[in-house]
Order: sequence, then C-alpha cells, then structure tokens
Amino acid sequence: MILLKCEACGGRELKKIGNMYECIYCDSKYILDENEKVVSKELTEAKVIALFEESKRLHEANKYAEELEVLIKAYEMDENNSKIMVNLGRCYRNLNMIDKAIECYKKAIELNPNEGTAYTNMGTIYTLRGDYKEAAQYYEKGLPIIDKAEFDYWLAYANYAVSVAKLGNPGKAEAMIKEAEAHGYKNGAVIRKMAGIESKSFGSKLKSLFS
Ligand SMILES: [Zn+2]
Repeated sequence: MILLKCEACGGRELKKIGNMYECIYCDSKYILDENEKVVSKELTEAKVIALFEESKRLHEANKYAEELEVLIKAYEMDENNSKIMVNLGRCYRNLNMIDKAIECYKKAIELNPNEGTAYTNMGTIYTLRGDYKEAAQYYEKGLPIIDKAEFDYWLAYANYAVSVAKLGNPGKAEAMIKEAEAHGYKNGAVIRKMAGIESKSFGSKLKSLFS
C-alpha cells in the first residue's frame, strides 16, 4: 500500500526507506511487512510536533535564540528524533556555535543515516573553515541520499563546487554551478567568488576591450 499522509502531523511527504515509511517532516515511522502493509507505527507525539512548529515560526522570523529554547524542549521530549537534531544543528550554526552544530549533525546521522542534509550542512561548515577535503567527503556522502527534486540538493551541490574548485578542478566546479543554476540556484556570483572561479561576464567584458 502507499501511505499518503502522516497520521501524526498531517504531512504529505513520506519517504520510503527499506521496510518503512518515514515522515520527512516530523520523523514518525511506519514499519511495513513483506506485503507493504503497515504493521507498526512510531508516531511523534502531538506536543513535540507543536513545539517543532513553533520553532519553525521562530526560525522564519530569524529569532534564533528563542528557536533554540523551543528546540531544546522538543529534544528533551523526543531525544531520538533526527529532524529535531538537524534543526538544532542549523540553529546552533545560525547562532555561530559551530562546534555545537557539528555535534548535532553527527548525532542526527547516528539516529538516521539517511539524513542527507546533516551531511551536506557539515560539508558547508568545513567549506567555510577552508577544510575542503573534509567538506568533499561529507558532500559525497550526503548528496546521493537527497532527492534531486528538492532544492536542498542543488544548494548543497553548488556549495560542493567550492571544494571541487579548491581541490583542483575549477572546470568541473563551473559546470556544477551552472547545473545548480538551471535548477533555480541564485547565488552563483557569490559561490564563484568563493570558489575562485573568474566569472564569465568578467571575461567577456575583458574581451570587449579588444576589437
Ligand atoms: Zn509527520
């Protein structure tokens, strides 16, 4: 059978992983038997979902310190929820507590090895630290498990281009950025600068100096 809606949060994005469906929003799990019938469920509690929703509102309002308080409350109620852990990582990152962020992303991966954005966000942390080898390893692990239909994929892919360029392949990096741009990525100028790739328009401006 195909599950269409999460019973706990009403979310409509359920991802099939092995013998279970997982709600990509609240982390509820639906275990299937060999006939694809749901045999057991691990539903995330309503009060945890309410806190999670509150934290998202605070995040969108850029109120990261308040978001952190709410996420910690949610975490204390549901320590094994990898979605809460990923958002905690993002929140610590926004508060510039980078080591804490890394700790949360690592924990998220321990809880759920399919948490692709936990890997790619670590990649971006290491990119910003200038540790391109370490960054590349995390992107290589994270990207294959993120759906290409999600914008997160292309954001991470463009960020990975910085490491690809810095590790000696600027041509491949430029092709990656172009591919990300074809999928809606808008930050090409900044990422090319970070990658040390000369922008095309600059090249053509230079050419236009000559007849
Ligand atoms: Zn759900």
